[in-house]
Amino acid sequence: MKRRTFIKNASISGLGLAVGSSALNCDNNPKSSSTPETKSNTMKTPLKSPIAICTWAFVDANAKAGQALENGKNALDAAIAGVSVEEENLKNTTVGKGGTPDRAGNVTLDACVMDSTGDCGAVVCAENITHVAALAKQVMTETPHVMLAGQGAEEFAYTQGFKKEQLLTEDSKKAWETWKKSPEYKPIINIENHDTIGMLCLDKDGDIAGACTSSGLSYKMKGRVGDSPIIGSGLFIDNAIGGAAATGLGEEIMKTVGSFLIVELMRNGMHPQQACEEAVRRVTSKNPNYKDFQVAYIAINKAGETGAYCIHEGFRYMKYQDGVNHNILSECVVKA
Ligand code: ASP
Repeated sequence: MKRRTFIKNASISGLGLAVGSSALNCDNNPKSSSTPETKSNTMKTPLKSPIAICTWAFVDANAKAGQALENGKNALDAAIAGVSVEEENLKNTTVGKGGTPDRAGNVTLDACVMDSTGDCGAVVCAENITHVAALAKQVMTETPHVMLAGQGAEEFAYTQGFKKEQLLTEDSKKAWETWKKSPEYKPIINIENHDTIGMLCLDKDGDIAGACTSSGLSYKMKGRVGDSPIIGSGLFIDNAIGGAAATGLGEEIMKTVGSFLIVELMRNGMHPQQACEEAVRRVTSKNPNYKDFQVAYIAINKAGETGAYCIHEGFRYMKYQDGVNHNILSECVVKA
């Protein structure tokens, strides 16, 4: 049942849901931020062709999205196709299947999507389902809600044809068992040089959509949810303006509603690069311990201009356009 039909039926049948949804090639340059690669990225370029950008050097995922866009897929479906590459990548311990578990040994996934109409869907703390960004889309299109959590998200997934999978791999289990011997919880900056994948796509019609998917922080408390599935924090799209996505310490991103902030700054005239810088400044100006954690943003505007900024050097992002998949080192606050 589609969301609209469900709402209509729910209000008719007096289910108390009448409030519904309306109310309710590689520029692989490890140099500093003043390299031509990063500077050129801040220059005005009129949109000629679709664009996919994503957090971290997820080369294959971004290429998949870029090629999907070139083949005519809309921005949302291209973003979901792109991030699914990392969701099923067992070697990636920060997204999807193979993700690092929480302290109790459960792999719990967070994801959200937002489309060009401003509609959105999310799942938090979802277990046993690999493709949680696709599941978030189903929440958006097939329920009257925006977000489903835990068991509810998992049960809903089975009704939508998703299959139950063991997400904890032998390697992740071994690493967790080693960690348990002297458990210490601290966010690791640029863990394995990748993390959450947040992806923003601008399609051939000029529409923007995005997806964000993560296993969250390694060895997090049971039940902990980060920024990645929170609309406005891990991801935000306003098709009239642009979109933004985040990675890094979710608690800090949520406190400043980073992705929403970036889109609002762009609405007020900032270039995506300036907007990402200001959003990072918002974090660093409020938390004197910013040198102990990473926060990174990417953004795109309606003209296809992009930007990225982070606290700690080492954050990279991908930009696919015209058949070329650029791997770009982000500018940062703290140089290594
Ligand atoms: N933002 C994610 C979270 O806090 C993790 C990350 O991107 O490093 O759950």
